[in-house]
Amino acid sequence: MIVLGIETSCDETGVGVVRLDDAGGVELLANEVASSVDEHARFGGVVPEVASRAHLQAMVPAVHRALGTAGVSGRDVQAVAVTAGPGLTGALLVGVAAAKAYAAAWDVPLYGVNHLAAHVAVDTLQHGPLPPCLALLVSGGHSSLLDVPDIAGPVTPLGATIDDAAGEAFDKVARLLGLPFPGGPHIDRVARDGDPAAIAFPRGLTGPRDAPFDFSFSGLKTAVARHVEALERAGTPVPLADVAASFQEAVVDVLTAKAVRAARERGMETLLLGGGVAANSRLRALAEERCTAAGIRLRVPRPGLCTDNGAMVAALGAHLFAAGAKPSPADLPADSSLPVTEVLVG
Ligand code: ATP
Ligand code: MG
Ligand code: FE
Repeated sequence: MIVLGIETSCDETGVGVVRLDDAGGVELLANEVASSVDEHARFGGVVPEVASRAHLQAMVPAVHRALGTAGVSGRDVQAVAVTAGPGLTGALLVGVAAAKAYAAAWDVPLYGVNHLAAHVAVDTLQHGPLPPCLALLVSGGHSSLLDVPDIAGPVTPLGATIDDAAGEAFDKVARLLGLPFPGGPHIDRVARDGDPAAIAFPRGLTGPRDAPFDFSFSGLKTAVARHVEALERAGTPVPLADVAASFQEAVVDVLTAKAVRAARERGMETLLLGGGVAANSRLRALAEERCTAAGIRLRVPRPGLCTDNGAMVAALGAHLFAAGAKPSPADLPADSSLPVTEVLVG
């Protein structure tokens, strides 16, 4: 059966189409993403009103493109899934309204799903059925460690950032280094020529009395700012590559250490990375290294599936359908602070 997924929680209008087979496997048929990121660049961050308007303009053409790419028509779609939260309220509302309209028009069930759970579910499109896993989700809005026994069932949050998300830290540090928004990919690129051990930036929340699975990145961001200011005051050129590499190392060191520790403590044999920051080349390399050392299997979707997209929502909708989950009501609300424990809005 064919499932259409809609994602509008932030600045990406994503529409994905997947096929669910009788054995519960999912296959990616289309993944159309229209991003308004360029419109936000000059503000240095996502502007909610701009994102909402861009979703409105992009939605229907994106649905048509996705159906076309998948080689199916609206009549073939047997379920519609949509991100119900968390995210920007105005942005979510556009996707939820569109999903309700399509589900009603095609007379098919509607699944209002959790964005974070969808970031986990997307991996099944690339790597097949997902065993119980520990998931590290890192994006511009989230940094969370989740215990995921079953992709269609409840998840247990183990920890999250207490201030900035990892992607937010990348974006803010990039900004103070004069790199364009969103800064993550630029830091990743610039850092390749730098020495990750050049500057010993702080590793937040790694003390013996700190919450073992929470994260903090705002102190790190301040440390980078101070370091750069001090160099500028002294008239010394800022070694961009070294600063970027050392900052990046501080982030991915903490992320991978805590994720591997959580997986071991929970007896999980699989660690899954998701969210836009999972596209980071150093995070992927260090996670691989530490998982190998700990005897843990690492699963990371390709970068195009890590950043926000509609296929991840379609994949989760398909798994929920396969598990016999009760669809969401026709008056499904958008919930900007939907808790991660709520995989499906009932
Ligand atoms: P949400 O948090 O709701 O998922 P988002 O738009 O921030 O929304 P994504 O599209 O998953 O989520 O991720 C975007 C973030 O990922 C940005 O902060 C961006 O800088 C970061 N990012 C993307 N590529 C890289 C990279 N190679 N290295 C580091 N960070 C990256
Ligand atoms: Mg985004
Ligand atoms: Fe996301």
